[in-house]
Amino acid sequence: MDLHEYQGKELFGRYGIPVSEGVLATTVDEARAAAETLGGPVVVKAQVLIGGRGKAGGIKLASTPDEAAARAGEILGMDIRGHTVSKVWIERASDIAREYYLSLTFDRSAKKPLFIFTTQGGVDIEEVAESSPEALVRLHVDPLEGCHPWHARRLVYAAGIEDPGEQKQIATIVAKLYDAFVGADAMLCEINPLIVTPDGEVRALDSKFTVDDNALYRHADIAEMRDVAGSDPLEVLAREKGVTYVKLDGDVGVLGNGAGLTMSTVDVVTFVGGRPANFCDLGGGGDAQGVVDALEVITRDEQVRAIFFNIFGGITRCDEVARGILQAVEQMGLEQPIVVRLDGTNAEEGRRILGEAALANVHAESTMLDGARRAVELAA
Ligand code: GDP
Ligand code: MN
Repeated sequence: MDLHEYQGKELFGRYGIPVSEGVLATTVDEARAAAETLGGPVVVKAQVLIGGRGKAGGIKLASTPDEAAARAGEILGMDIRGHTVSKVWIERASDIAREYYLSLTFDRSAKKPLFIFTTQGGVDIEEVAESSPEALVRLHVDPLEGCHPWHARRLVYAAGIEDPGEQKQIATIVAKLYDAFVGADAMLCEINPLIVTPDGEVRALDSKFTVDDNALYRHADIAEMRDVAGSDPLEVLAREKGVTYVKLDGDVGVLGNGAGLTMSTVDVVTFVGGRPANFCDLGGGGDAQGVVDALEVITRDEQVRAIFFNIFGGITRCDEVARGILQAVEQMGLEQPIVVRLDGTNAEEGRRILGEAALANVHAESTMLDGARRAVELAA
């Protein structure tokens, strides 16, 4: 789950990472009031779950409350690459002498958290990685050993930070970022930019914070931060129904049971020249209601022109799935063509159930390849 900047900063604050004081606003009047409360110049920042807000015009400085209101009026309602701005974060403006970059993420191949630090912050880290890879300092932390002062010292020295005050503050932030990452079960904690003010104070000016969905049950307070309105409505529906759903951009809806089979189905659809619109994993259960839920999610995707339902029955029983399909087609009045391949536990019975129902838009195929071909044809 991705958090908004203001939410990430709230977590940073809890772990002792210095951030600027700010107030959330959803209207122009709230923005003016926020600026009055904060006093002095402020920065008005669009809160959307996408980066590069600055370049898109979603971040503006204001020196008076009236100016803050005017800037908020421009930013609220703005579209930033498909995300409509409904909230702005009004923050006391900072004077910036230097912009650094610090992040902590998972390096899956090393099976360890990875710090990345560079003094070339403020811009896209991908750009820095491209143009001057040597400027990026990378350092793994052994999760069993934890983060120790030497990690921070190595990052700071390797990046060429010479000022002792800066060294000390950054080292503290490194340790606290590790605490926040572990404490919140994060997948990513990124500070870009980590600024140094003209007075030599180091502060997190931005926050990108991603928490592991599978750990949210341990963090009721963070789970509550989920911005349903700011997320893809289909992903929200899928989550409510307990269906794993991933959006792609073709026209064949893909449904399978189990991640492995579902991914292979996506590959096979692509192999026969089709383009998957999404994929949905029924998981191991696959009872009739589960099928109805998954079909409901998949068919809400307007790009879907045909559905390929690929089931290999193990724990999942094909007769249950067949009943679920019939139930869904009837309940929801589905008209899209549905190609069904049933194999494994009770496959014959499943096919018999589908055969007897003889629905015009439901087509049974016995192999994955034929099923994929048929679905691609029907989507064309
Ligand atoms: P992003 O574009 O979505 O990454 O948003 P950021 O929060 O990183 O802001 C983008 C840029 O706006 C920063 O790199 C700064 O250069 C600038 N900026 C943000 N806040 C302030 C501030 O308080 N004062 C000044 N002078 N510039 C700021
Ligand atoms: Mn940023």
